[in-house]
Amino acid sequence: MESIEKNKKDNNPGPCIEKNCSYCCNPVKVRRFFPENKIPVNKNKEKIWKKREGLLIPKNEIDTTRLETYDCVNFDKSTGRCLDYENRPTICRRASCIDKSSTESIDEQHKKSTKGKFIIIKN
Ligand code: SF4
Ligand code: SF4
Repeated sequence: MESIEKNKKDNNPGPCIEKNCSYCCNPVKVRRFFPENKIPVNKNKEKIWKKREGLLIPKNEIDTTRLETYDCVNFDKSTGRCLDYENRPTICRRASCIDKSSTESIDEQHKKSTKGKFIIIKN
Protein backbone atom coordinates (compact mmCIF):
# COMPACT_ATOMS: atom_id res chain seq x y z
CA MET A 1 0.00 0.00 0.00
CA GLU A 2 2.77 2.36 0.98
CA SER A 3 4.54 1.89 -2.35
CA ILE A 4 1.32 2.53 -4.28
CA GLU A 5 0.87 5.79 -2.40
CA LYS A 6 4.50 6.69 -3.01
CA ASN A 7 4.18 5.99 -6.72
CA LYS A 8 1.09 8.16 -6.91
CA LYS A 9 2.96 10.97 -5.23
CA ASP A 10 5.94 10.46 -7.49
CA ASN A 11 3.89 10.69 -10.65
CA ASN A 12 1.58 13.60 -10.54
CA PRO A 13 1.51 14.89 -14.10
CA GLY A 14 -0.01 18.19 -15.04
CA PRO A 15 -1.54 18.89 -18.46
CA CYS A 16 1.89 20.15 -19.62
CA ILE A 17 1.84 18.52 -23.04
CA GLU A 18 -1.85 19.10 -23.83
CA LYS A 19 -1.55 22.76 -22.90
CA ASN A 20 1.95 23.20 -24.29
CA CYS A 21 2.78 24.76 -20.94
CA SER A 22 6.27 25.28 -19.59
CA TYR A 23 5.39 27.41 -16.58
CA CYS A 24 7.17 25.08 -14.12
CA CYS A 25 10.32 24.68 -16.21
CA ASN A 26 11.00 28.09 -17.71
CA PRO A 27 12.38 28.98 -15.30
CA VAL A 28 12.22 26.34 -12.59
CA LYS A 29 10.92 28.07 -9.46
CA VAL A 30 11.66 26.85 -5.94
CA ARG A 31 11.63 28.42 -2.49
CA ARG A 32 14.67 30.45 -1.52
CA PHE A 33 17.47 28.47 0.15
CA PHE A 34 16.56 25.35 -1.77
CA PRO A 35 19.18 22.73 -0.76
CA GLU A 36 21.86 22.13 -3.40
CA ASN A 37 21.66 18.38 -2.82
CA LYS A 38 18.02 18.37 -3.95
CA ILE A 39 18.89 19.68 -7.40
CA PRO A 40 18.29 16.79 -9.81
CA VAL A 41 21.26 15.23 -11.57
CA ASN A 42 21.74 13.40 -14.85
CA LYS A 43 23.18 9.94 -15.25
CA ASN A 44 26.69 11.40 -14.91
CA LYS A 45 25.67 12.93 -11.58
CA GLU A 46 25.83 16.46 -13.02
CA LYS A 47 23.25 18.93 -11.76
CA ILE A 48 20.68 19.70 -14.44
CA TRP A 49 19.48 23.01 -12.99
CA LYS A 50 21.67 26.12 -13.27
CA LYS A 51 20.90 28.94 -10.89
CA ARG A 52 19.81 32.31 -12.24
CA GLU A 53 20.61 35.62 -10.64
CA GLY A 54 17.89 37.35 -8.66
CA LEU A 55 14.76 36.29 -6.82
CA LEU A 56 11.10 36.24 -7.80
CA ILE A 57 8.39 37.54 -5.51
CA PRO A 58 4.85 36.45 -6.37
CA LYS A 59 2.71 39.60 -6.37
CA ASN A 60 0.02 37.85 -4.35
CA GLU A 61 2.54 36.71 -1.69
CA ILE A 62 4.73 39.78 -1.44
CA ASP A 63 5.37 39.53 2.31
CA THR A 64 5.93 35.81 2.58
CA THR A 65 7.55 34.24 -0.48
CA ARG A 66 10.90 34.51 -2.22
CA LEU A 67 11.69 32.14 -5.06
CA GLU A 68 14.98 31.09 -6.57
CA THR A 69 14.97 30.33 -10.26
CA TYR A 70 16.94 27.88 -12.34
CA ASP A 71 17.44 27.10 -16.00
CA CYS A 72 17.10 23.39 -16.69
CA VAL A 73 19.43 21.83 -19.25
CA ASN A 74 16.59 19.49 -20.26
CA PHE A 75 14.33 22.36 -21.23
CA ASP A 76 14.16 22.92 -24.98
CA LYS A 77 13.47 26.62 -25.54
CA SER A 78 12.62 26.08 -29.19
CA THR A 79 9.72 23.70 -28.48
CA GLY A 80 8.90 24.80 -24.91
CA ARG A 81 9.14 21.16 -23.85
CA CYS A 82 11.20 18.90 -21.63
CA LEU A 83 13.70 16.92 -23.69
CA ASP A 84 13.14 13.88 -21.49
CA TYR A 85 9.61 14.25 -20.12
CA GLU A 86 9.01 10.51 -19.70
CA ASN A 87 12.13 10.18 -17.55
CA ARG A 88 11.97 13.51 -15.77
CA PRO A 89 13.28 13.54 -12.20
CA THR A 90 11.04 12.77 -9.25
CA ILE A 91 10.97 16.39 -8.13
CA CYS A 92 9.50 17.31 -11.52
CA ARG A 93 6.99 14.43 -11.38
CA ARG A 94 5.75 15.69 -8.05
CA ALA A 95 5.29 19.25 -9.29
CA SER A 96 1.86 19.74 -10.75
CA CYS A 97 -0.69 22.49 -11.06
CA ILE A 98 -3.43 19.88 -10.67
CA ASP A 99 -4.85 18.53 -7.46
CA LYS A 100 -6.83 15.44 -8.43
CA SER A 101 -9.07 15.77 -5.37
CA SER A 102 -10.09 19.33 -6.25
CA THR A 103 -13.62 20.09 -7.37
CA GLU A 104 -12.26 22.63 -9.86
CA SER A 105 -11.69 21.62 -13.44
CA ILE A 106 -8.21 21.05 -14.83
CA ASP A 107 -8.61 24.22 -16.89
CA GLU A 108 -9.51 26.30 -13.85
CA GLN A 109 -6.68 24.91 -11.74
CA HIS A 110 -4.17 25.38 -14.53
CA LYS A 111 -5.30 28.94 -15.17
CA LYS A 112 -5.05 29.86 -11.48
CA SER A 113 -1.58 28.35 -11.14
CA THR A 114 -0.12 30.08 -14.16
CA LYS A 115 -1.71 33.51 -13.99
CA GLY A 116 0.43 34.77 -11.08
CA LYS A 117 2.69 37.73 -11.74
CA PHE A 118 6.13 38.21 -10.22
CA ILE A 119 8.42 41.01 -9.20
CA ILE A 120 12.10 40.35 -9.84
CA ILE A 121 14.62 41.55 -7.27
CA LYS A 122 18.38 41.19 -6.88
CA ASN A 123 19.60 38.71 -4.28
S1 SF4 B 1 1.75 24.72 -14.68
FE1 SF4 B 1 0.85 22.67 -14.91
S2 SF4 B 1 0.76 22.35 -17.11
FE2 SF4 B 1 2.19 24.03 -16.76
S3 SF4 B 1 4.21 23.09 -16.64
FE3 SF4 B 1 3.42 23.21 -14.55
S4 SF4 B 1 2.39 21.25 -14.18
FE4 SF4 B 1 2.69 21.45 -16.39
S1 SF4 C 1 13.78 17.93 -16.25
FE1 SF4 C 1 12.14 18.43 -17.65
S2 SF4 C 1 10.35 18.62 -16.34
FE2 SF4 C 1 12.15 18.79 -15.01
S3 SF4 C 1 12.61 20.99 -14.87
FE3 SF4 C 1 13.82 20.14 -16.54
S4 SF4 C 1 12.59 20.54 -18.35
FE4 SF4 C 1 11.23 20.69 -16.58
